[in-house]
Order: sequence, then structure tokens, then C-alpha cells
Amino acid sequence: MIAHLCCSVDAGYFLKKLKEDFPDEKITGFFYDPNIHPYSEFKLRSLDTERICRKLGIEYVEGEYDYESWLKAVKGKENEPEKGVRCSICFDHSLEATAEFALKNGDDKITTSLLMSPMKSQEQLNSIGKVIKRKYGIDFYAPDYRKKGGTQAQQIYAKETQMYRQDYCGCIYGIWQQKQDQEIIDELLSPVTRQILPASIEERLEIYKKRLEYEDEGSEYKIIKENFLNYRLLRGSVKFKVKSEKCKTENPGQTFGGAKGKWEIEDSYILFYSYLQRPARGRIDFVKDGIGYFNRMQIIFVEITKFNEILNKKYQNVKEITKSPPSIEEEVEFREKITNTKYSLSPIIIVDEIKEKYEVDIEAKVYPDIREILIKF
Ligand code: SF4
Repeated sequence: MIAHLCCSVDAGYFLKKLKEDFPDEKITGFFYDPNIHPYSEFKLRSLDTERICRKLGIEYVEGEYDYESWLKAVKGKENEPEKGVRCSICFDHSLEATAEFALKNGDDKITTSLLMSPMKSQEQLNSIGKVIKRKYGIDFYAPDYRKKGGTQAQQIYAKETQMYRQDYCGCIYGIWQQKQDQEIIDELLSPVTRQILPASIEERLEIYKKRLEYEDEGSEYKIIKENFLNYRLLRGSVKFKVKSEKCKTENPGQTFGGAKGKWEIEDSYILFYSYLQRPARGRIDFVKDGIGYFNRMQIIFVEITKFNEILNKKYQNVKEITKSPPSIEEEVEFREKITNTKYSLSPIIIVDEIKEKYEVDIEAKVYPDIREILIKF
């Protein structure tokens, strides 16, 4: 039998019961979730589902992340509510792929852990099962393991084994509907630097990979939750003023800001926790030891050489930081070293060399959040 698996919490208890019901049957877990957005969340759910299969001695196969075919399948149904038409198509898509996999594998029966989810309609799933039978000649086994305290037992098992618990169904349209009241929908953000941000899916993926290492080496651990102040940079631009003499030489005959100069984009790197209430235009008050203090909004400019010196890095220029940024911990450590408060939110901007006049615009959110922490005993 091929058991389509959607996530560890639904798969764990479901597979346990399935093994009890079919002690002599070879059950293969087929993780097929191309609906999941973003890809890092797909990998996280897959990692944790594979872990549960390993615990239960069930063979695990990760299906293809054919996201584009899923998007095409649900096209036009983006705004459907959960349990609506989009979800039916989504189940069709997963169960058809499972049936095709079963045929290739020589199996004659499929089932799905979606049957465990209180958010999914059993009726919808059963009617898709009938279509599968007609189309592929494959049986759809649809036990209701939620009955007789199954849902509670499922939750206990998930807690005991410290499974990863997602807080949204999976697709980009579902996230939008389920999280639209949140200030930040983190699943829809991805830093261009590929830096691992606190409380991001990527951070969780690292934690859950580490936990597997601990389990493999037999170490005791706990995953706990912690409240903290999170930050997301949404947009930032730094411009410097080109002096009028340079403008005139390079662009004869043209006038710039009343012939006084023009603003050009500065290569810059904005540090974590840099917060600005409104755009600021001004000049550097003074420079001391590679650090320039701006005359507005407590903005601090730091030359790349100073940044390298403090963090023991070897960046040739600011563009290199963007390609291979330091960790958030290093950025916070740097902030602590050059400001006088541990709770500084002053904008800190790294530049190749400090110029005279700047225009800075930063849109960022600072907000209370919860992150998972892995503790090894
Ligand atoms: S809300 Fe869930 S079931 Fe519905 S389409 Fe999105 S991922 Fe699929």
C-alpha cells in the first residue's frame, strides 16, 4: 500500500494505526506536497515526516516538488476558501500523483494522511477516492482514525515525539487567507542575501536538521519556544550627493538640483535592527575611526574596513557583503560594539567610504515574535 503523506503530525499517528490494521502489508510513505509554499517549508515538512517514518520503520519516498503543475491545476481558484474547490483540486492532484506512483511501484491500494486533518473534508477525500478507483483501478482506503479519541491520541503522539507543527495548511493562497491579519507574513518574504533570519522557515529547517543529528548520535535534547524582538527589513535605499563640480564635468550643460548636485544610489548594506521612522536627508556631522555620525535620526555610517576589522572579515567592498552576508548574530554583535546601548535600533549602514551628504529611506518592521530554540542536554 502507498500512503500519501502530507506532514509529520498527520502522518505519525495515521501510520501507526495503519501498521496495526495491516501488520503483514508493506506500507510505503509517499510525501507529495507540491502545493507547499515556500520550498524551504516543503523541505522542512518532508524532513520531519521522513523522521517519523524512520521511527516507525516505514519506507519513505519524497515526491517531486512540481510546483508549476500545481499552480496550473488551481489556476482561477486562488480566492476559494479552505475546504472549497481549490482544496478539492489540490487533493485530486496529490492523490492522482500517489495513484500513478502506486501503479509504477506495482501497488494496488493507496490511502492518505490528509484523512487525519480536522481541517480537511473526509467527504471530499472519499469522493476523490472513488474517481481514483474508476480512473486507475486502484483502491482508496479511507479509515477514520480521528474517531474514538484518535485526534487526542494524535496530538499526544506529536507532542511526545516533538514533531514540527506548521501553522498554515500549505499553499500560498491559503497563507494569504489564514495570515492576512498578521503584521508580517514571513512565509511570503525571502531575503535577497539568503541570510537565515530569526524565526524564519530556514532557521527552523536548520534546527530540525540539527535535531536529527542529535537523535542519530543518541543525545538528549528539547525544542523550546522563546519570545523575542524580531525584525524584517522590507525596503531600503541610500543615496549620496554628487558634488556640483563633478556633475558639471561629467554632464556639461545639465543642471542638478539647482546646479548644486544630484543624488546617486550608494552601494550600501543595512544592518539588522536598523529602524527609521521616516526618510532622512542630511550630512555627516563628524567621522571618527571609520564611523560617520549623521546629523539626522541617529543614523550611523560605517566604512567597510572598520566593519571587517570588528567582525574579522575580509570583504573587498559592500557588494560582497550582500553576496555572502554575516550571520544575524554577527550583525547584532557588531551593533553592540559600536553603539552605547544593547537595545539600539539606530540605522547602521555599511558603505565603501563615507561621503558628505546622504538621503536614507528604510522601511522595516520591529515586532514581538516567537522562535524555536534547540537545547542539547
Ligand atoms: S488550503 Fe491547503 S488543501 Fe487547500 S489548496 Fe491550499 S494547500 Fe491545498
